[in-house]
Amino acid sequence: MRVLITGGAGFIGSHLADAYLQRGDKVCVIDDLSTGCIENIQHLKGKPNFEYTIDTVHNQPVTAELVDQADVVFHLAAAVGVKLIVESPVRTIETNVRGTEVVLSLANKKKKKVLVASTSEVYGLSSDIPFREDGNLVMGATTKGRWSYACSKAIDEFLALAYWREKKLPTVVVRLFNTVGPRQTGQYGMVIPTFVKQALAGRPITVYGDGKQSRCFGYVGDVVGALINLMDHKDAVGNVFNIGSNQEITILQLAERVKELTQSDSEIVFVPYDEAYEEGFEDMPRRIPDISKIHGLVGFEPKMNLDGILQTVIDFQSGRNLR
Ligand code: UDP
Repeated sequence: MRVLITGGAGFIGSHLADAYLQRGDKVCVIDDLSTGCIENIQHLKGKPNFEYTIDTVHNQPVTAELVDQADVVFHLAAAVGVKLIVESPVRTIETNVRGTEVVLSLANKKKKKVLVASTSEVYGLSSDIPFREDGNLVMGATTKGRWSYACSKAIDEFLALAYWREKKLPTVVVRLFNTVGPRQTGQYGMVIPTFVKQALAGRPITVYGDGKQSRCFGYVGDVVGALINLMDHKDAVGNVFNIGSNQEITILQLAERVKELTQSDSEIVFVPYDEAYEEGFEDMPRRIPDISKIHGLVGFEPKMNLDGILQTVIDFQSGRNLR
């Protein structure tokens, strides 16, 4: 099989490329290196089954050719990271909406199956925990930049599902919950690589708000397995799936755990949201997925626990595991 991964030099995309190559499939990556990074695919360069193109998916002639050559498409190229989104909302909206329009319209020409990556951010301010795929999405005000990410991704979801209903393009939508592992960078705001970096350097660990907000962190290897299984399953088409872990931890507990595992002397400091992001910033207090739908279809279960995940990030950042 020939697999096209948009955003394939990103954190999740590059792990997905590894997994398909390991299976013996051919992988082609397109990435504009805006948040992705060439080091993520350095080890794949020169492999006979691997090709990459450094360009944006908005470049239609280039993307058209890649889509034509592919059997299936993973559309992971997107603006991600809360920090980036708050700082560059125009880029977020344009990248996420236009990119998906281009990929779906090109895939539709020859009905190539597309998996579109969405996000748990779409649940927004919903308090209907755990979040189910058929639950309501509760958006915050449009004056708060953060919600532009959720809205742009919700449009991507609508579009992917509309292509299936109206044009019979086989599409699958996944809502990725906080995904973590080696190669993830804290540059765009992701908490675990940020905390690990701070702890290893002996710098203060910056907990935003009061640290009582919680998240569930899933391991990238588990997520990639789920993506492949969904792509392989015919009944996934036309559906939305949560993917992630349901082991909840508060951000303050997370900071303490990182400090312990790295045996760091770093102090834990609290940074008000207004200072960390922007004035009036709204966080999601809790974010827990209901994963019964994906479990029911492909038997998905998160295998790696939080300590295991943290250890892979610590090893990666300490140079003990460069993959
Ligand atoms: N966070 C934090 N300190 C940091 C970075 C993030 O306390 O240096 C918090 C952030 O406010 C959020 C949680 O950690 O409550 C997860 O943040 P992340 O950006 O990783 O993902 P999100 O779940 O917000 O998309």
